[in-house]
Amino acid sequence: MCIHYTAVDAHQNDYHIRVVTDAVAGSGKEAQEAALRAMQYLQRDALITTADVESALADDTTPEDETFMREAIRLSKLAVEHGNEPFGAVLVKDGKIVFSNENQIYTRHDPTFHGEAGLIREFCEQTAITDLHEYTLYSSCEPCFMCSGAMVWVKLGRLVYGASNIELENILGNKGCNCSKMVFDNSFWKPQVTEGILRDESLSVLNTYFDKHAKG
Ligand SMILES: [Zn+2]
Repeated sequence: MCIHYTAVDAHQNDYHIRVVTDAVAGSGKEAQEAALRAMQYLQRDALITTADVESALADDTTPEDETFMREAIRLSKLAVEHGNEPFGAVLVKDGKIVFSNENQIYTRHDPTFHGEAGLIREFCEQTAITDLHEYTLYSSCEPCFMCSGAMVWVKLGRLVYGASNIELENILGNKGCNCSKMVFDNSFWKPQVTEGILRDESLSVLNTYFDKHAKG
């Protein structure tokens, strides 16, 4: 493997090569693909920034991601029509939606019935499947601490979300935090995470709703 690079900052080059080496050492197919993308950045005839490599490594989207996220966002709008908060979630296996759910905290009188936690509880109960390492969960917004914790307990394979918790909390006038990362970084199980899919559409639904409502 030969890496040609043209970045002038030696320290940055060291960093990039370390990132690629780490990615190549990863066992998964995703890690290999991320390494290839990072190498393409390294070979580009331009000054390479840390952000370039990080974005190459983070670019782990699949062609179906937008399709499934669109459904999660559609459900987030339906949740509002049904009298709940604007959050939707979709569970996918082998390129097919196997389960979906919307926030139901008000109609069920259950403040924990978020899009994601509710989906996981109902799916596991109805199917008796409790290990989701082969599944991808799409959520219109980054899962909260509780829902992220639920994803650890079912060993979710991959999480894809639209707007981030920080963006949601900013709409509400709060600081927010990268709550899903905090949970996963401190847990025994870490789903692969892709963020920011259809972020603008997701934010638009959140803005419209929380412009007129307080969060439950
Ligand atoms: Zn939640």
